[in-house]
Amino acid sequence: MQARLMPYLDSLNPAQREAVECLDGPVLMLAGAGTGKTKALTTRIVHLLNTGRARPNEILSVTFTNKAAREMKERVGAMLGQAVEGMPWLGTFHSICVKLLRRHAELAGLKSNFTILDTDDQIRLLKQLIQAAGIDDKRWPARMLAGIIDDWKNRALTPDRVPAADAGAYNNRGTEFYAQYQTRLRELNAVDFGDLLLHMVTIFQNHPDVLEQYQRWFRYIMVDEYQDTNVAQYLWLRLLAGKHKNVCCVGDDDQSIYGWRGAEVGNILRFEKDFPGAMVVRLEQNYRSTGHILAAAAGVIRGNQGRLGKELWTEAGDGEKVRLIGHWDGEEEARWIGEEIEAMQRGTRGQAPLGLDQMAILVRASHQMRAFEDRFLTIGLPYRVIGGPRFYERMEIRDAMAYFRVVVSPDDDLAFERIVNTPKRGLGDKAQQTIQGLARENGVSLVEGARLAVESGQIKGKGGGALRELVEGIARWGRMAGDPDLTHMELAEIILDESGYTAMWQNDKTPEAPGRLENLKELVKALESFENLQGFLEHVSLVMDNDKQDADEKVSIMTLHAAKGLEFPAVFLPGWEDGLFPSQRSMDESGLKGLEEERRLAYVGITRAEQICTISFAGNRRVFGQWQSQLPSRFIDELPEEHVEVLTPPGLYGGGYGAAAPGASMGAGQVRSTIEEKMAQADGYNSPGWKRMQARAGQRGLSQPKESKHQVIDLTATSSFTLGERVFHQKFGYGAITGIEGDKLEVDFEKAGTKKVVARFVSTPDD
Ligand code: ATP
Ligand code: MG
Repeated sequence: MQARLMPYLDSLNPAQREAVECLDGPVLMLAGAGTGKTKALTTRIVHLLNTGRARPNEILSVTFTNKAAREMKERVGAMLGQAVEGMPWLGTFHSICVKLLRRHAELAGLKSNFTILDTDDQIRLLKQLIQAAGIDDKRWPARMLAGIIDDWKNRALTPDRVPAADAGAYNNRGTEFYAQYQTRLRELNAVDFGDLLLHMVTIFQNHPDVLEQYQRWFRYIMVDEYQDTNVAQYLWLRLLAGKHKNVCCVGDDDQSIYGWRGAEVGNILRFEKDFPGAMVVRLEQNYRSTGHILAAAAGVIRGNQGRLGKELWTEAGDGEKVRLIGHWDGEEEARWIGEEIEAMQRGTRGQAPLGLDQMAILVRASHQMRAFEDRFLTIGLPYRVIGGPRFYERMEIRDAMAYFRVVVSPDDDLAFERIVNTPKRGLGDKAQQTIQGLARENGVSLVEGARLAVESGQIKGKGGGALRELVEGIARWGRMAGDPDLTHMELAEIILDESGYTAMWQNDKTPEAPGRLENLKELVKALESFENLQGFLEHVSLVMDNDKQDADEKVSIMTLHAAKGLEFPAVFLPGWEDGLFPSQRSMDESGLKGLEEERRLAYVGITRAEQICTISFAGNRRVFGQWQSQLPSRFIDELPEEHVEVLTPPGLYGGGYGAAAPGASMGAGQVRSTIEEKMAQADGYNSPGWKRMQARAGQRGLSQPKESKHQVIDLTATSSFTLGERVFHQKFGYGAITGIEGDKLEVDFEKAGTKKVVARFVSTPDD
C-alpha cells in the first residue's frame, strides 16, 4: 500500500486512522460529538473500495436518515475522485430491510408487492379489531395498543414470544390483539414500520440458508449512530455479522435520544461482550466547535448519571461564548432570531458573513416551527423545514387557503377542485364530472358550473344538498368580504366554520388532528398583519414563488431529533423553557430516565454549532390557544456561567434581567432566579402583574397581543361569557351579549346595533 495512493488517510488523526485501517474484525468507535466518527466511517468505506477489499454492493452501511446516506455516498465519491457505482446497501435500517423483505416476502407470508402502512393506517386497523371485539376504545384507545405493539416489535418479540411479564398489557388482551393484528396485516399483504425489521430478524432466525447467503454477501458492515439502535436492529446486525465479524460501529452514549422509541444505549456496552477482542477506538479531539461551545455542552451533560464519561478538547480556540437571551413571547423570539440571521448574513455582527445554509434553528417540538415560518415568510427569508412539510405546504393550510382563494376569486378552479369534497360532501367523481361538464359547455368557472348543477337538479340526494350549501356559502362569504364591519380574520374563521372544515378536524380522532387545528388557528393569526384576505394570499404566493428560484441558500428549521449528526456554523436553540424543553412529560415522569434523555438532546443541540450558539427562551407562550407564562429551562441553570454570555433582551418584563445592565454579563443561574422572582409576581396572563408587564412592554414597542388594552378571552374559553356581559370589539366598540352560540356571540353594540361576532375577537373591558 502506498500512502500517496491514499490521500484520504492524510486528513485523519492517528486514532481515526487506526480505526480506518483495521478492516478485519470488530471495531467499536466510541466518542463524543464532532470527533470525526462519521468521517472515519466514510473514509473506511473509501479505504475498503480503494484497496479492493470489497465492491460497493458488498458493503452494508447503516445510517440514521436517508439524508445522511446520500451525503455519505457523495463524500465517498468525492474522496475516491470518481462517482461510486451504486452502493445499494448504504441506507437506513428501514430502507435496507424493505429491499431485503421484498426479496424474501414469501418467507414472511407476504407477497413481494406488500404495502407499508403509516401510523394512521395502523391505528385505524387496530381500531377495527378492538371494536369488533366489543371493547370500549375510549377507555382502551387504539393508539395505546399501537404503542405497546411497536414496543414489542422494537424488542424483536413476535406474538408467541411476548414474555409473561407483559401479559397484563392492554387489559390482559395485548398479546391476543397483537396476534390478530399480525394475521390481519398478512391478509392485507401489508406491514407496518416495526415489521420491516421484525420480519427480517425472524426470517434470518428461521432460515439459516438465507442468513448465510447474506453473511457471505455483506463482507463488511458499518453502523453510524449506534447508540440509537433498538434490540431488533441490534439482533439483525449481530446475525449478519455473526460469521466474519467484520463490523464497525460508531456511536456516543451521550447522544442517545431515541429511548422513547426503544433504543437501547446498552447495545454499545454489549458490543465488546458479543464481539470479543473488538478493537475499541476512543476519539477525544473535537473538530467541529470552538471551546466555549464544547465547554457549555460538557457542563450540561455532566448532570447525567451513569455516563461512560468522555472529555473533549479542541484546537479551535475559545471562540464566542454561548449566547443566552430571553424574550417577551414566542413571536418576539422569532422576530429577534430573524434579525440575527439577517445580521449574520450581512456579517454585521463582527463575524465573516454567513450563508443562509450555514445557519439552523433547532426546536424541541415541531409546533415551535410555525412562529419562525410565519416570521420568515413575512420578511421574505428563505428557509427549509427538514423532516416535514413547511407550514404553508401542510395539507390543512393548503385546504384553508383554497377556501380563501375561492372566496376571493371564484374563478380559481384549482382551488375549487381542492375543496369541493373536503370535507366529504358525498360528491364523488361522477358529481364532479357533471360540474366540470357544465362549466365547459357554458364556458364558466367550476363554481358557476356547480351553481348550474344545483339549479338544474343534476346532482341528486345528499351530495346535491351539500353542494347547494357550498355554492351559497361561497357567494355569501364573497359578499361578507366586502363588509367593512367584518375583519378578514373573522371572515376566515366564519369560512372555515361554516364550510364544515374546522369540524372535520374536530371530529377526526387521529393523532395529527389536534396539531392541524392548532395550525389553522395559527393561520388565522398570521392574517393579522395583512389588510385583507387577498393581500395575504398574494403575499404567500409571492413568497412561495420567490422561494423556488433561489433553491439552495436557505436557513434550516428542524427538530433536535432530526439534527443528529449535522453541523452548522451558527445554531439557534429557541424555546428553552420548562415544560417545552425539557418536555412536560419528562418532568412529570418519576425517575430520571426521561429527563436524562432530554438532557442528551440539549447536548446534541449545542454540539451542532461550530462557531455561534444562541439559546433563547420566552416569558410567555401561546400553547394550544392559551397564553401561558413560561419559566426558563432548568438546563439553562446547568450552563456553566463562564462560557455563557447573557444578552440583554429587547425587553423581557420591561427590559433587562433586573440588575443586568445592557451588555453586562450575568450568570445563567442568576437569570433563572431573577426571572422566577418576576414570574412569582405575575401568575398568569390575567394577573395584575402580567398586565403591568404588558403595559411596560407596550411602552417599548414590543410585540404583544393586539387587544393589549383588554383582557384577551380565548377562543376555547367561550363558556366564560355570560349573557348580558359588557364586551368590547375592535370595530364595533362596546356592547352587551344577547346570545351565545358555540364560539359565536350575538352582541347588541351601543353604536353599531346587533351583530354576530366571533368570540375570539371580543374582549372584556379592563376597567
Ligand atoms: P456527531 O457525534 O455529531 O455525529 P461525528 O463524531 O460523527 O459527530 P463528524 O461529523 O465526522 O463527527 O466530524 C465533525 C467535523 O469535524 C466534520 O466537519 C469533519 O469534517 C471534521 N473532522 C473530523 N475529523 C477530522 C480530522 N481528523 N481533521 C480535520 N477535520 C476533521
Ligand atoms: Mg456523526
